[in-house]
Amino acid sequence: MTTFSFEFFPPKTVAGQRALWRTVRRVEAFAPDFVSVTYGAGGSSRERTLEVTRRIAAETTLRPVAHLTAVGHSVAELRHIIGQYADAGIRDVLVLRGDPPGDPRGPWVAHPQGFTHAWQLVELIRASGQFTIGVAAFPERHPRSPDWDFDIRHFVAKCRAGADYAITQMFFDVEDYLRLRDRVAAAGCDIPIIPEIMPATDIRQISRFAELSGATFPAELANRLHAARNDPGEGHRVGVAHATAMAQRLLAEDAPGLHYITLNKTTPALDIHAGVLTPARSLHAP
Ligand code: FAD
Repeated sequence: MTTFSFEFFPPKTVAGQRALWRTVRRVEAFAPDFVSVTYGAGGSSRERTLEVTRRIAAETTLRPVAHLTAVGHSVAELRHIIGQYADAGIRDVLVLRGDPPGDPRGPWVAHPQGFTHAWQLVELIRASGQFTIGVAAFPERHPRSPDWDFDIRHFVAKCRAGADYAITQMFFDVEDYLRLRDRVAAAGCDIPIIPEIMPATDIRQISRFAELSGATFPAELANRLHAARNDPGEGHRVGVAHATAMAQRLLAEDAPGLHYITLNKTTPALDIHAGVLTPARSLHAP
């Protein structure tokens, strides 16, 4: 079955909280398969991720997935957080290594009593009880992986450690996703790899995200967004059209689902989803 899902981040301000809950309520009306809540860079949003995820579980009909990173945590702290997730009824975790706080491209320094790689946290959660575990996948390979063999070998290690599925980093060329999927399959791993859909509607914002994530941003799309930099309506149309076309092609290529980044705003993600919703659902109509 094809899943569709949405990603939120835990806001810091009261205004941000209001925007988040407005978005959650609108997304809820579309009955997605799950929604995920990110874990702040450097482990900074530990309490807020737990609080938002707990509230989604308690007060909505949505199935929340809590992200968790190893950054700045000892194994004992990670065990405690996993226990808190379980106490709140959260049994779905997206497990990540995380990036160094401050400069995400800087050298990785593990907590002295912590983990160095995501597969170790996957193992810990797998051994901690009944959880559904997601992990990260990289259509253009992880920026720290020197080559594809290295990248796929370590991705497969996360599957072997107990990952049930993966969600990709943002990408803008469907061929990158298809090549990753083929490479992972050739390495003997068959977990679903769900593509992440990032609405690129604002050239300033998307350039920063693409730089941070290492994703290649197509020149043609960049030019069109640049031309629309003072016209948010046109930027929205350009970004939504590109992402909708990508999403439709991904479904035609049998991607197992679509995971939309919302940035806690409804409009671009739901406009893209509206463009793919009918064909996606009708594939499985009784
Ligand atoms: P790993 O799987 O540990 O991989 C990191 C690097 O180490 C890779 O190059 C890998 O090949 C290599 N490696 C793995 N195992 C070994 C080994 N045994 N020996 C040598 N090298 C190895 N970050 C946040 O801070 N919060 C979030 O909420 C968040 N959500 C995300 C959601 C998605 C869908 C994605 C794709 C990323 C997200 N990130 C988040 C970013 C993520 O934390 C970073 O991309 C991080 O750099 C990699 O995390 P990972 O889990 O892939 O790490």
